[in-house]
Amino acid sequence: MNPSETARETLKRLALQRTPPTPDNYRAFYNEIAGTAITEDFPEKSLKALVGSLPRNTPEQLRFVRQIDSAVSDKNWDSLTTALADLLNKTAAESPNWSTLIRDLLTRLEARQADLTPARKREALDHVLASSAAPDLLHTRLQGLLKNWSQSAGLEGSLASSLASDSPAATEGSAAAPPAPTISQAIQPRPSDLVKGATGELLDLLAQLLESSISTLLADTPELGKEATRLATSARSAANTNDITTFITNIKRFSYRLNFAVEDQAEMKSALLHLLHLIIDNINELVLDDQSLQGQIAVVLELVNQPLNLRRLDDVERRMKDVIYKQSALKKSLLDAKDQIKLMLATFVDRLADLSESTGDYHEKIGRCADKISKANDIAGLSEVLEEVMRETRLIQLNAQRARDDLIQMRSKVSEAEREVQRLQDALVIASELVRYDPLTGVLNRKGMNDALDTELSRARRHNSKLCLALLDIDNFKKLNDSLGHTAGDAALVHLSKVVREAIRPEDTLARYGGEEFVVILPDTALESAISVMVRVQRELTRRFFLNNNDKVLITFSCGVAELGADEQAMEVIQRADGAMYLAKRAGKNRVLAA
Ligand code: GH3
Ligand code: MG
Ligand code: MG
Repeated sequence: MNPSETARETLKRLALQRTPPTPDNYRAFYNEIAGTAITEDFPEKSLKALVGSLPRNTPEQLRFVRQIDSAVSDKNWDSLTTALADLLNKTAAESPNWSTLIRDLLTRLEARQADLTPARKREALDHVLASSAAPDLLHTRLQGLLKNWSQSAGLEGSLASSLASDSPAATEGSAAAPPAPTISQAIQPRPSDLVKGATGELLDLLAQLLESSISTLLADTPELGKEATRLATSARSAANTNDITTFITNIKRFSYRLNFAVEDQAEMKSALLHLLHLIIDNINELVLDDQSLQGQIAVVLELVNQPLNLRRLDDVERRMKDVIYKQSALKKSLLDAKDQIKLMLATFVDRLADLSESTGDYHEKIGRCADKISKANDIAGLSEVLEEVMRETRLIQLNAQRARDDLIQMRSKVSEAEREVQRLQDALVIASELVRYDPLTGVLNRKGMNDALDTELSRARRHNSKLCLALLDIDNFKKLNDSLGHTAGDAALVHLSKVVREAIRPEDTLARYGGEEFVVILPDTALESAISVMVRVQRELTRRFFLNNNDKVLITFSCGVAELGADEQAMEVIQRADGAMYLAKRAGKNRVLAA
């Protein structure tokens, strides 16, 4: 039976049996008649709605939601089942262990502690019990309480109390409890109770700090580096009060010497920067007319004028490498083209020399012929000389003709080569210009922005027109980075730049001011209009979601807008816009305020 026959039969059966023709009844009869299994449609829409309402507050939750979402998109029941089973298993594995907690609490409650009487502990316990209704929260808080008690027990007779004086540790406030042990009583050779306590932990931490961080930082002063390693060893092997007292004396001396080393390093850094400045200034003066280097020099200058930061150094290095690579390729072609011109000029000079040589020859020969003509006595002698004159003249004519053709050809080659040199030189300037753009988003970077501001400000002054600057800062961007990862953060920056660029007018300029802050330059615009432009941009951004692995992520920004005032510098306007942006953040973010 073909499908239409089956359908007809189904309708007949429904009528015959007086069964209401609902979709479900129809489907059941149809399958029965066709002899096919009843397959349910995958409820993708409902499941998508369900996924949409799941919480995504922690990375774990996000991962789970993504797993479910992709199973729903694939219409895959198996993956869905696996995701749910994983979640249940995980929840079971993580369910709080109440019995251990209660046992530990009881033990700790009864344990004697110098600074915490059982009464105070009970009071704290009552407070936690009264204030935490949800079991998970209660478990976490009780664990916190337990940790607090344990730490405070560990701190008994700790460095802080015992090393200040050698007298027994103070015991006021715990009338019922026996005096707490002094450090000399408490410290045993390791491993001991002390090692488990805060003092041991502190010594271990110090040792680690000295060994892994401080000695590495002291690579330039190996003596001091070795001293740090020695101190780390003595921190680890300290077993009694005497050891600790000696350690403290040594570490005091060490920290005194360390101060000097740190000062030296700071001075060295500033001297190096100073030197770099000098070199850059020097290069700048030398290459005043070489446009192709101005871009890089400006970037390096900007870099050394700000506090050094690894990320920025890295970024500049990457951009420089790009530009240097492009420039070196272009320079090679440029040199080749120049060599060719030189070669052509040399040939040209040779040809000229040839020509003048042959004309010289010709004059000499004609002179001789004239001589012969004056001496000729008969027609035969004369016609011989005339023939020679004709021959020489034809030869020189031919030579001149050839030289002329050569010269014309050469002239066109030279102008072609000159055009090539010009093209390459232009390309070099463009390559250098690349440093004006932000490599991630493709919009102007800080340097590009400064140039654009110079142009727009002087234009506004010349035409007596209005100019506005908007400074926007993405809201809660750190959170986005933390939850979705740095790469997603980068993609979000690219998305925002694209949306903003498409929402502003062609004559407006977008620049990346820093991290997640952007500046929009709005020429010929008064404050009110600039604000509406930025509100439009904001609306556009809420309309065009940022998609991260098919998840819609809403990006918002806070923005301050300032209009250029009379006699105001660009940076002053930006600062006012920044102030307004800050107020927009304080007022609850996702808004545009006028400066
Ligand atoms: P607020 O709403 O107050 O502006 O909070 P925020 O989290 O946006 O601001 P905060 O200044 O605390 O964090 C800015 C973050 O931007 C921190 C930094 O890691 C991140 N960031 C800066 N530049 C980049 C970048 O190029 N890529 C990525 N992925 N993150 C960046
Ligand atoms: Mg910021
Ligand atoms: Mg921000």
